[in-house]
Amino acid sequence: MARERRFDLLILGSGSTAFAAALQAQELGKSAVMTEERTLGGTCVNRGCLPSKNLIEAARLVHDARRPRYPGLQPAEMKFDFGRLVAQKDEVVSEYRDRKYKSLLGGNFDVVTGHAQFVDEHTVDVDGQRLRGEKILIATGSRPVVPQIEGLDRVPYLTSDLLTSGEEQELHELPRSLVIVGAGYVALELGQMFQRFGSEVTLIERGAGLLARGYEPEVGTSIAEYLESEGVRILTRAQVHSVQKGGEGILATVQIDGEERQVRAERLLVAAGRRPNSDRIAIERAGVELDEEGAVRVDEYLRTNVSHVFAAGDVIGREAASQMATPVGSHDGGIAAHNALSRESPRRVDHRVVPRAIFLDPQVAVVGMTEEQVVAAGYRCWCRAVPLSVVPRAGAVRDTRGFVKLVADRDTTEVLGATLVSTNAAEVIHEAAMALRFHARLHDFIDLLHVYPTMAEALKIGAISRFKDPAKLSCCAE
Ligand SMILES: Cc1cc2nc3c(=O)[nH]c(=O)nc-3n(C[C@H](O)[C@H](O)[C@H](O)COP(=O)(O)OP(=O)(O)OC[C@H]3O[C@@H](n4cnc5c(N)ncnc54)[C@H](O)[C@@H]3O)c2cc1C
Repeated sequence: MARERRFDLLILGSGSTAFAAALQAQELGKSAVMTEERTLGGTCVNRGCLPSKNLIEAARLVHDARRPRYPGLQPAEMKFDFGRLVAQKDEVVSEYRDRKYKSLLGGNFDVVTGHAQFVDEHTVDVDGQRLRGEKILIATGSRPVVPQIEGLDRVPYLTSDLLTSGEEQELHELPRSLVIVGAGYVALELGQMFQRFGSEVTLIERGAGLLARGYEPEVGTSIAEYLESEGVRILTRAQVHSVQKGGEGILATVQIDGEERQVRAERLLVAAGRRPNSDRIAIERAGVELDEEGAVRVDEYLRTNVSHVFAAGDVIGREAASQMATPVGSHDGGIAAHNALSRESPRRVDHRVVPRAIFLDPQVAVVGMTEEQVVAAGYRCWCRAVPLSVVPRAGAVRDTRGFVKLVADRDTTEVLGATLVSTNAAEVIHEAAMALRFHARLHDFIDLLHVYPTMAEALKIGAISRFKDPAKLSCCAE
């Protein structure tokens, strides 16, 4: 029988959620252990946020050189070495992982390497080692969904794991052409990136348009227009029926409005969403319940149905109105550890205001409700989208792509949601997020002095459009 090690908090996973929990345990003077079967640090640092944003920015530099916005700047074909770009991405990831994750280990918390699964409700087996937790946190994250497509098990395909380093899934060579199954945020970010590096990209989307769920309808239509203008081919109402090897690559048979079409590409990327890693940890031995999407069911204190077992991060999916994003997991990881270990009152999670972004160019950033959600919630909506062309900064730097949309309660003028498609939208959205946090009204945006000329003025101009024609403002959005 394996020797058992005991901890105050046993954490399944070592991603950003797990680290936040382990650090909180340390602050409370408790012992904690994490478990990891892949690379320390989890998805965000190793194969998600960090490597994708690194390469997306490199692709933007290549694109901007090729298509300068200013008359007087000569287009230039910037030479690049994709293999070297991948290698520098690996260096950035490795340096960040060492500094932000590895260097924190030791003292009161450590990581055990191997595949973790429950033995009983207090014990986990990690490749033969037994770990016992007085309290347990499930933070095993999520992984790419692999849809049922005929022939997929017989052809090589990529997933978002192509961004990883030191694992066999990493992509080192730029494909000449790429067909992407799915058009969610990962598919769109990677699709634009590869197109800018020179791959011929085809996106295959089941729905009638891009980003149809959870976004304002204007987002999908504008993003489709910008991507198509760069050469990305977008097939909507399209479903991949089967895939097979064809020539030197992949041949996908796609059903579009009842008709069959064949799409050829050198490589296939499956980016059809993510599912919680709740199915390979023998969770039934702990008696922990899952919801219909396989997410661990939790309440607003991140407690599962088993009183000493908590869950947070991607593995809880949309439970407690959560979202799969790094800041949500790392904020909640700390709350889960506090609730598991502290004698102080338990803390509730607050997922009412979660700003999120898609790192396209122009960026998409949203917070709060959409017009459809506001109406469904029973408000009388004042909702308006204003084109970026009325924002002085956008005109000054010759990039008027995008719009700002505010949705507000018509009666109180409280702002309930904001959507931005613009450069720097992921930065600007924080003003709207703070405003929503404190239940700000349209006049709070209008009365706040903004730096001129900035993209943040878009929010002020969006609010002004409730009362005036934003095309007829003088300087400084006043
Ligand atoms: C391409 C891509 C880009 C992204 N970009 C962004 C972005 O820009 N901004 C953002 O906020 N979010 C982004 N995300 C999402 C973000 O990466 C995740 O929301 C976040 O990493 C989730 O953290 P987590 O700690 O909950 O899970 P993870 O980071 O996935 O950590 C869970 C860990 O548990 C391990 N594990 C699972 N099962 C077991 C087991 N049985 N035994 C041992 N170990 C196990 C896994 O190997 C993993 O390392 C992106 C994701 C992808 C894929």
